Amino acid sequence: MPQPPTNIADEIGIALGNFADAATAPFTPTLRLGVTGLSRSGKTIFITALVHNLLTGGRLPGFAPLTEGRFVGARLAEYPDAAIPRFAYEQHLAALTATPPTWPESTRRISQLRLVLKYQSRRALAGALGHSTLTLDIVDYPGEWLLDLPLLSLSYAEWSAQALERARRPHSRHEAEPYMDVLGTVTPADEATDADAERLASAFTGYLRASREDGRALSTLPPGRFLMPGDLEGSPALTFAPLPPPAGAVRSGSLYAMLERRYEAYKQIVVKPFFRDHFARLDRQIVLVDTLRALNAGPAAVADLETALTEILACFRQGGSNPFLRLLARRIDRILFAATKADHLHSTSHDRLEAILNRLLANAARRARFAGAETRSLALAAIRATREGVIEEDGETLDVIVGTPMQGETLDGVTYDGSGEIALFPGDLPADPAVLFEAGRPVALKFLRFLPPQKLERNAAGDVVFPHIRFDRALDFLIGDWLR
Ligand code: GDP
Repeated sequence: MPQPPTNIADEIGIALGNFADAATAPFTPTLRLGVTGLSRSGKTIFITALVHNLLTGGRLPGFAPLTEGRFVGARLAEYPDAAIPRFAYEQHLAALTATPPTWPESTRRISQLRLVLKYQSRRALAGALGHSTLTLDIVDYPGEWLLDLPLLSLSYAEWSAQALERARRPHSRHEAEPYMDVLGTVTPADEATDADAERLASAFTGYLRASREDGRALSTLPPGRFLMPGDLEGSPALTFAPLPPPAGAVRSGSLYAMLERRYEAYKQIVVKPFFRDHFARLDRQIVLVDTLRALNAGPAAVADLETALTEILACFRQGGSNPFLRLLARRIDRILFAATKADHLHSTSHDRLEAILNRLLANAARRARFAGAETRSLALAAIRATREGVIEEDGETLDVIVGTPMQGETLDGVTYDGSGEIALFPGDLPADPAVLFEAGRPVALKFLRFLPPQKLERNAAGDVVFPHIRFDRALDFLIGDWLR
């Protein structure tokens, strides 16, 4: 008998998972915080800063438990799930505090980290009883994996038709050409061979990579694991690609049937377990968005980001159209959308950056409410790489940012060598975000990637203090109410 899209075992899996959460921490409440965003949106930096700030009691005026003097401290604890890699906090911190400091390696797969937080509850009784404890589990996963959700309700034939139609669109033609060439050498009804499957999958992955690297697109087309395979690199479940339907009935030994089986396997052993075992068990979520990079890359990139966000947000929507998702016992009650790297702009533009992020999310948010969750948008920098200044130019006063551009960065014909600070007038964001969504209206931003802060302050205990922008507010929204 064919399996229904979601079976009892899936639901039992969720229930057992929740039970296991409770069993590992019988007296301590556990808050599971998901951190996601497309590749290079700033997840690794955000989590490293989050952990470091909590471990060292960083400079966080907007984080109420700390300013009210109730936050006692935090420590790292062993993560109970031995099957999931641990977030490499120590390595990332070492890169950021090395001489000279460098940005650490980015997220390529799911990872987790557990912190135990101690605090004084506001409730007098609890106060008299001593400190309270909260276990904070941080789950870091690529946003690309959320883009796979629509696959769960698409058959191989439907997905193939969509993917091939996209590949034939005029602006994709160039990137898709090598794949179309390989496709021209196979006949879907012919005998299946692993060699053909591998050639097709590798050419299709090449096309997905090229469409991302041309600078216009920031997101990837599904399947999300083709470019972010995690531990599945080279596995048969990742060795498929779209094919046109063969004429007549599909023979089980044909190439078409083989790729169809692998597509279904990808859904069963990759996509579903991720949603069931990780996504469905989150309590809070932050979605990081590199809005500035999209603005800098032009209107096509902005449109692409908007589409990707709409798809990502579909995973959080109430009564979404996906039957699998409807069955998951989702419990996310707060979602924070964060425009990252706000230190690329002067503070006079931070509110405008938030307005642009809201506009980017508007379409997705308008269509349906998020599953009972409270949402907020914020422009932030988890680790601020620039400071602010003013320069006089032709009798005009300009608000500038000061930082060290990374080696190889170019702007206005100048290539930087990674040594020496510059003052940059990054430009102003438009007051009305709608302007950005009109065709042919790119924003004139001066955008450079900067090295991480090269001179770091230390607190009285000798710990490094990372400068940031509005990071404390993010933290307060995400965990503050659990520390009351
Ligand atoms: P991930 O792929 O989402 O894990 O992205 P990362 O956290 O590794 O960030 C990608 C890159 O963005 C980093 O290497 C930095 O160059 C830059 N970045 C991330 N966060 C910040 C920030 O707060 N400020 C600045 N200036 N750059 C940042």
